[in-house]
Amino acid sequence: RVWNFSAGPAALPEEVLRQAAEEMLDWHGAGMGVMEMSHRGKEFISIAEQAEADLRELLAVPADYRVLFMQGGAIAENAIIPLNLLGERDTADYVLTGSWSVKSAKEAARYGKVNLAASAEASGWTSVPVLESWQLSADPAYLFVCTNETIGGVEYAADPDLARIGRAEVPVVADMSSHILSRVIDVSRYGLIFGGAQKNIGPAGLTIVIVREDLLGRASPHCPTAFDYKTVAEAGSMYNTPPTYAIYIAGLVFQWLKRQGGVAAMEARNIAKARLLYDYLDGSDFYENRIDPVCRSRMNVPFFLKNEALNDAFLTGAREAGLLQLKGHKSVGGMRASIYNAMPIEGVAALVDYLKTFAARHG
Ligand code: PLP
Repeated sequence: RVWNFSAGPAALPEEVLRQAAEEMLDWHGAGMGVMEMSHRGKEFISIAEQAEADLRELLAVPADYRVLFMQGGAIAENAIIPLNLLGERDTADYVLTGSWSVKSAKEAARYGKVNLAASAEASGWTSVPVLESWQLSADPAYLFVCTNETIGGVEYAADPDLARIGRAEVPVVADMSSHILSRVIDVSRYGLIFGGAQKNIGPAGLTIVIVREDLLGRASPHCPTAFDYKTVAEAGSMYNTPPTYAIYIAGLVFQWLKRQGGVAAMEARNIAKARLLYDYLDGSDFYENRIDPVCRSRMNVPFFLKNEALNDAFLTGAREAGLLQLKGHKSVGGMRASIYNAMPIEGVAALVDYLKTFAARHG
């Protein structure tokens, strides 16, 4: 297999794929594969319950939070969130840190008033506004933040603690699509955490929502029933047919994470992986990463060749060396290496070796 640095859908742990292949035709003696099972049958219900229990354990999700397995991806959540959470308030606060949060704020503005609490635009999206600079409105329904911007490669290093700015009453809503389960978080700092699964969890098609119970039951009458968090929670994520196979694979990934030592162990590995790559880039005069070091993403590492005329040769050579999907997002240019949980340090080391070899040949 190649080293796949895709931002998503992204590489999955090989062990998980092998287990899924083994169970494809006959899951645990059921005589059928998971894709063929009724979501209401005891086999699939046991798979979904185990997946939820494992996710709760991995993230230490408190008892007053519900875990929802939904569909539509993070982009659908950009609408589903205001439809569910605005309630009787008319305003929500948004922190802009890059492409994804800008998109989220634009969508929310279709349903209510958006107050821009902070924006990193003036930095060219190379830093994130510190919590102390956020200007919350008087009575927002929630404060939205994307804690890891996949395209720009910026990440908040700590959970946002609104108590530090005297606004503990405002629920924080966080798009964690591209770093959920990559580091230890304190779920109780958030009102709602969401993410598409296809980066750090499993296949596309599954959206994870972790929501504090007191935020349920506020949905607008215009909210589609299948996207009303209360309805989804009460139906155990089975109001409509859930993405069964994606939930099954996510469950295998959760079990794999537990075998790796859980989220704290993954965080230590992710720190080591990111350090290996950033240290090399910083020490090189051939490549550069332009992000403020205090908010560099551990998951998504954008970088540039100082001589951009060599970009095509770089990508061709990378492909030949078995290093795939390194082209940067079109809005940023350059290169990007996404190094989610499933990327072992050996893959990052192979990338650094290639970076060195290419620089030596063309420098
Ligand atoms: N938010 C973030 C941080 C992302 O990385 C992505 C990536 O695709 C999205 C939102 C959009 O997610 P989806 O395509 O699952 O709707």
